[in-house]
Parts: sequence; C-alpha cells; structure tokens
Amino acid sequence: MATALPTILIVEDEMAIVELVSFSLKAAGWEVDAVHSTAEAWDYLQNKRPQLILLDWMLPDQSGLRLLSRIRSDRNFSTLPIIMLTAKSMEEDKVAGLEQGADDYITKPFSPRELNARIKALIRRKTPEHAELEMQVGALRLDPVSCRVSVNDAQIEIGHAEFKLLRFLIAHPERVFTRSQLLDKVWGDHAVLEERTVDVHVLRLRKALGGADSLIKTVRSVGYMLSEK
Ligand code: CA
Repeated sequence: MATALPTILIVEDEMAIVELVSFSLKAAGWEVDAVHSTAEAWDYLQNKRPQLILLDWMLPDQSGLRLLSRIRSDRNFSTLPIIMLTAKSMEEDKVAGLEQGADDYITKPFSPRELNARIKALIRRKTPEHAELEMQVGALRLDPVSCRVSVNDAQIEIGHAEFKLLRFLIAHPERVFTRSQLLDKVWGDHAVLEERTVDVHVLRLRKALGGADSLIKTVRSVGYMLSEK
C-alpha cells in the first residue's frame, strides 16, 4: 500500500553515512528506512515501495550496480527514482551507473544539503505528483503541501482518495491512463483493488470538482485523462 509519508530507502553499509544521511533527510521531512546489503534491499522492496532509493556502490554482498540492474529489469520498479552514492570519482564508473539506469549519482564525501537538493530535483523530474509545487490546469488549482484544491479560487471539499487521484492526473495532463495504471500509480503496486474502484473515485472526484468536472475526461474503452480540450 502507498504510505502517507514519502519514504526514502538508503542502501548503505557504512553506519556513519547512514546516520548522517538519515538525520538530514528526516530534518527535511522525509521518512527514512535503511538497509545494509543488496539482499536486504531486495527483501524490503517486496513489501514496501519507497519514493526514492539512495544506493551505495560498494556493499558487502554484491555491488550496488548489480542491485540497480536487477531493480531496473523488474517491470514493477523500472521507474523508481535511484541515486547512486559512490566513493569512486572515475568517469567510467559514473557512466556505468547511468547506463544501468541510475537517475543521478553523488560522489562521497557529499554535503547533506547537496544530497537534499538532488533528491528534490529528481523527484520533481520523475514524479511531479510528489513535488511540492502548486499545480494548475484551467480554473483548477491543487496545492500538494496544504492538500487544498480550489476551483476559480474557491476551495472545494475533496476526499483523500480523490485528492490522490487528482494529484496524479493534474501532474500528467493530456495523457490517458487505463484503470489498471491508475490503480498502480495512485494506490500503489500492492493494492488489491478492483478496476471499478477507479470508476467510483472518478465519479466522486467529478462531483467534488463541481463546475470544473469536465476536466476529467472519460476515454472510451481506454480509461481517463485530465484535459482542458
Ligand atoms: Ca559501502
């Protein structure tokens, strides 16, 4: 199930770094989980989906690079944001990491502030529905920080599930999503919900949007999209 607070998973065996990174990420408002080997990381991913992974290169059982390629070859995790932590500053290592599907890398020693900035930038780029920026389409505005939604500057009442659905759709306007994609993206990979649940929430969302309900389009025999057209 998707958790309320966004979690960052650190895969790192050097405890001093785990502590430093955990401390600064928690101060920045993240939940932090730490594991210390690739095997533990893989087990973790079977039960929980983090918002982002900080993956060390040198780990006791296998290299972080091996775990990276395993994660990327799994359909469920192919888009999970990953930043490699590396003590290596050799150009070819960075290239190898990026070729295996790392989204970014940061070379040790790094400052917690720099790490934080990289994390924010990556999340904004890969999962805009989790960024903190206000999003607007037409008369509709959504503020992800205060969780407020307004239509023509008037705040509307909206349920939690409908808010999550709208946050996802407004972050990806003009794109059609199937019901199963929406279940996956909005409710999480491990959600055991039926596809018609999506229809129920779309119905409630349109009701909540009042005059702006026509922004949520039904695309016959495909799914739904948010569109101004
Ligand atoms: Ca290490």
